[in-house]
Amino acid sequence: MDFEIDGATAEKLEEARDWGEREMRPAGLEADREGRPLPVDHAYFKKFLARGDGRTRWRGPGEDATHESAASDAGNRTVSALLLSEEYAYWDRGVTVAGPGPGLPEPSVLSLGTEEQKERFLGPFLEPDRPRWACFAMTEPSAGSDAAAIKTLARKDGDEYVLNGAKCFIGGASRADWILVQATLDPEKGRAAQRAFFVEQGTPGLGGFKIEKKMGLKAYESTSFTLEDCRVPVENLLGGEERYERKAGFKTAMRTFNAGRPVIAANAVGMGRAALDEALRFAYDHGLLSRDRIRDRLEAMSRKLRMARLVCLRAGWLADLERPNIVEASMSKALAAGVAQEVTSLGVELLGTVGAKGDHLIEKLYRDVKAMDIVEGTGQIQRMIIAREIVQLPR
Ligand SMILES: Cc1cc2nc3c(=O)[nH]c(=O)nc-3n(C[C@H](O)[C@H](O)[C@H](O)COP(=O)(O)OP(=O)(O)OC[C@H]3O[C@@H](n4cnc5c(N)ncnc54)[C@H](O)[C@@H]3O)c2cc1C
Repeated sequence: MDFEIDGATAEKLEEARDWGEREMRPAGLEADREGRPLPVDHAYFKKFLARGDGRTRWRGPGEDATHESAASDAGNRTVSALLLSEEYAYWDRGVTVAGPGPGLPEPSVLSLGTEEQKERFLGPFLEPDRPRWACFAMTEPSAGSDAAAIKTLARKDGDEYVLNGAKCFIGGASRADWILVQATLDPEKGRAAQRAFFVEQGTPGLGGFKIEKKMGLKAYESTSFTLEDCRVPVENLLGGEERYERKAGFKTAMRTFNAGRPVIAANAVGMGRAALDEALRFAYDHGLLSRDRIRDRLEAMSRKLRMARLVCLRAGWLADLERPNIVEASMSKALAAGVAQEVTSLGVELLGTVGAKGDHLIEKLYRDVKAMDIVEGTGQIQRMIIAREIVQLPR
């Protein structure tokens, strides 16, 4: 593995640092203090678009540039994206996720969507006229880790599908132009019967949006909603009916998750780094650096973060080589989320009463970081995946 950061990535990291300090950190603190997501018309989102962000990676009709082919063009695309993900989360992870764009479902649409679907659903993200969001809805009140147990039902009726069910904790659902909803044709048939559907905002039957209360990451909304006799045309089935293969529906969701695990790991490393810097600054300002027990804590924080970053970058390096990375992707997330929780906790301890007061960045980081262990497969689930791969159990 080459650890040198190429010139283009270094430049982007410099820009990210400047943007993060100027815009992201203040927006994150504002949302946290006000205890609500950044509103849709927040100035941050307009600046975000003006900066050229919030766009799709799809290159437009007729261009055969899927995520995969674009990835193979640039040798270190994933590693570079991970370093940027770490930097943005350093400044504010909630604001990173809050940003407009095709978000979590984009990789699935790029790799499995029909040309017509890419044009319809990603087209508006080519040169967005306003901040636009899209989101991916898998989790249900009774199905989180066991994603194969979802109950949202899709019934075929002529040239439509009728969706019924409830989703929860879905990032950006009430503001999304469309939601990629994971549903099942038959809950008894588990994974094989799952499909993903584009449900556009305003479709009759889609409603009941309720923004959940969260302990951290308040800058973006996590929202529950219901689907009641919600009808979508067959053209809204991801990949189209003719391209459907057995188990492809569930694989859609897993594809989304596999792409995301090292990103969550990188986010966690970034948040841990922010906590380390706060702790270092505090120790310096208060003349604590000569104390062994303070230095011991700072050393542990630094060492563990570096270890987590290395595993994360290895997962990205394998992806760039188009080599299987399932174990490394899960390891990176399991390790980095745990390390970041430990590091933010040590940081709060090191600051003593100042850290525990509730108005210090380190306390916010401590609350924000817990979700890194939960989203896109909890720590326990990652460890199960790793163990299964090691002993070669069927997936
Ligand atoms: C901030 C935030 C944002 C989110 N955003 C989204 C989103 O955009 N889209 C979306 O679809 N979902 C989203 N989620 C939901 C998230 O994916 C789920 O919370 C997660 O999958 C865990 O599911 P659960 O909460 O139902 O917990 P459960 O699955 O009920 O698990 C509870 C506990 O049991 C453990 N556990 C479960 N099964 C096993 C097992 N077999 N062996 C050992 N331990 C086990 C888990 O690790 C966990 O500790 C979000 C959640 C949060 C907190």
